Amino acid sequence: MTVHRNTRKFAAHRVAVGVLAAALVVTAAGCSSDGGEDAETQGASGALAGSDLAAEEGSTEVPGPSPRLAAVDAAGRVVILDLETGDELTDFGGAQDARISAVDDRFAFLTAFDGDTTIVDVGSWSTDHGDHAHSYVKTPTELGEIEDAQGAHVVANDGKVAVFSPRGGAASVLSLPELRKGKVDVVGMINADASGVVIPMADHFVTSRDTETSSTFELRDSTSAVVHEFTDACPNFEGQAVFRTSIVAACDDGFVVLSYINAESSSRKIAYPEGVASGARPTTLRTTAGSSLVVGNGGKEVLVFDSALSSTVDGAEVPWTQIPTQGQVLDAALSGNGKQVLALLADGSLAVFDAQTGEQVASGQVLSSPFDTSAGAEAAPSFVVGANRAYVTEPAVGAVHEVDYLDNGRVARTFDVAATSLMVAGF
Ligand SMILES: [Zn+2]
Repeated sequence: MTVHRNTRKFAAHRVAVGVLAAALVVTAAGCSSDGGEDAETQGASGALAGSDLAAEEGSTEVPGPSPRLAAVDAAGRVVILDLETGDELTDFGGAQDARISAVDDRFAFLTAFDGDTTIVDVGSWSTDHGDHAHSYVKTPTELGEIEDAQGAHVVANDGKVAVFSPRGGAASVLSLPELRKGKVDVVGMINADASGVVIPMADHFVTSRDTETSSTFELRDSTSAVVHEFTDACPNFEGQAVFRTSIVAACDDGFVVLSYINAESSSRKIAYPEGVASGARPTTLRTTAGSSLVVGNGGKEVLVFDSALSSTVDGAEVPWTQIPTQGQVLDAALSGNGKQVLALLADGSLAVFDAQTGEQVASGQVLSSPFDTSAGAEAAPSFVVGANRAYVTEPAVGAVHEVDYLDNGRVARTFDVAATSLMVAGF
């Protein structure tokens, strides 16, 4: 077996966390250190020599990104791995059936259906500084919790994080700059009389209002007062992608794009393209930093939606690209640079498509066996993207596969983490 190495970010280190299936094992010889991993082990703290930016207290500047994986399993065990070495940095117990919402590519918000929302600083991040960036690591830390949030819906945007508790019908709002200082202070509460979401946008908040048959949206100010009612309905609203001044919401009959620009609110309904089967509409939308594209799982196709085209006033251009797939799509997302669309299929393969043309550019077998979509309650495999790697869960065998999707979907490493939900930090 030939092992290709990507030495730029993921030097091939021996995988210390149990490796599964022999066929997938990467036995790395000649582990070449680029020096990036040593700062922490030397016990250094603070900025690098010659750095033009001070390090936060308790953090250590490192020469480049030092990605980490945070994962939670069905029993609520949370594991944090150093992705440069594959070593487990820490693990702790959480609530059963918790899910991770990633915030700022750094914080894991662990939401449990029946309990609190726990906020963890995964301890790896990068900061833009003019024409360059600085990267830091620190020990993973549990920062605090939002009590009785009961399966909260977490949305980060506009320098804030809204943690909406369906039971309470209100969102606790946290400040992202304060969170970066390690402070979990609720700086506001936004009431919403709906079992929907609260989404920070342009110094305001979008809330959803549900009836039996339809859902509409309102724009509220920081006192929860309604300042605008959007007119476009969104039946069975589920799934959203957020941008600085606009939001894309997935509905039964299409997407609704909501925006608030120069104190002007507007909304626009865009019907699904022909061929989107009823019952196969997206319920989770994904985008990536710096891209206007939104992707969703359309059953046996991936839907790609260009939010930049959809927000133009006349919008004559069709914002949809439909990418047919070889089989049932379990999960779909954009690559880190926004140029490819990745789709995990029920046959166990990860297919890679050009986001503009929809042409398939690569495909590789990732899961050890196909996933039976008729099995019901069993947790379906899913994935997240961090830089140039995808991390695919395979709950049935208790594994997370690291895939080099630019190298024909090659499985680079496999970790024996029975993740049901995960995120990558600090890439
Ligand atoms: Zn700098």
